[in-house]
Amino acid sequence: MKAVSVLLSLLLAWIAAALPPQRAALDKEQAAALYKAFPPFPALDPHFPPGGSTPALLSPILIPRTPGSENASLVRQHFVDHFAALGDSWTLLRDEFTAPVPEYGGLSGTLNFTNLIFRLNPPGYDADDISAKYLTLVAHYDSKIAPHGFIGATDSAVPCAILMYIAQALTAATRRRWADDPWAAQSDLALQIIFMDGEEALVEWSAKDSLYGARHLAERWEAETRAYPYGRLSEIQNIDLFVLLDLLGAEAPTVPCFFGMTAWACRQLSDTESMLRSAGIAASNKNTDANSKKQKNYINPTNLMTNAFVDDDHMPFLKRGTPVLHIIPVPFPLSWHTILDNGDNLSLDAIHDWSIFLATWVAGYLGLAEYIE
Ligand SMILES: [Zn+2]
Repeated sequence: MKAVSVLLSLLLAWIAAALPPQRAALDKEQAAALYKAFPPFPALDPHFPPGGSTPALLSPILIPRTPGSENASLVRQHFVDHFAALGDSWTLLRDEFTAPVPEYGGLSGTLNFTNLIFRLNPPGYDADDISAKYLTLVAHYDSKIAPHGFIGATDSAVPCAILMYIAQALTAATRRRWADDPWAAQSDLALQIIFMDGEEALVEWSAKDSLYGARHLAERWEAETRAYPYGRLSEIQNIDLFVLLDLLGAEAPTVPCFFGMTAWACRQLSDTESMLRSAGIAASNKNTDANSKKQKNYINPTNLMTNAFVDDDHMPFLKRGTPVLHIIPVPFPLSWHTILDNGDNLSLDAIHDWSIFLATWVAGYLGLAEYIE
């Protein structure tokens, strides 16, 4: 009996050693170090021009960028250049397709759409092997056709720029982790960032006139498979968590938790927000004067809206069983779908704080706490 228990404890110790290190949230010191190494401003300032001291992330996106337009391809190039500068650990998948569209602006027929998918893969990664799952961060980059000149600063230029920032802030730490931990480098959670095209309706929101990019990609990834020791799994099953950012950048947002199945992730992000606020890193705390109300947390895990949802790019994935965290304020910003949703009506504090809340949470999710320098 004794020998059995010794053997059992040896076996358990061996299993524990073979398990990946516990992925831990960043503590205040680690979060402060990440913030110091990668301050979100000036790159995410809507008025910081390209060609400045550091590459501008947000201002190049603050142009009309309707599907198939010249501006849309300029914005795609802005994304491509950014990820190319982060190094060759990032790979690009272009999901290009043509879809039938309703008659608009005197045009009818079909339109070309392009989703861009950037992946930060472990070294030696095999494209046909399913060893890595992807934490998948998503925002749409297209803008509405009407009203004329619509910019869509919160919808979703700011979310796109925040995804660029997260990639920039976490690439080096991810590489350090892989260099230090062979287990992580061989089989691990990887990061995937999707810039979705055609989220907006061209004429009027309907099942056929909206979510062009997301509908196409979800269908494609349901059909595409990769090797797995017991057969093949669809590409869509490689999504560990689908995190969709939308309508961010206006002041004082309130974001509910929509889905019971990902309430754990909503809670993690909320805890990260509370930690950063108490560490004095959040701008929307500092700038609140003593007489006014204390800034409420943006994410409220007790505000469960699990009987409601907002139709958005996550739906084609959610319908196929993908776990989703939808980060969208309810109510929507006042400028929503108006000409006022532009760079002049953004809250710098909100852009700053969403950037650090999300980057810090993603860093913990990816197990980077010990690798922040
Ligand atoms: Zn919109």
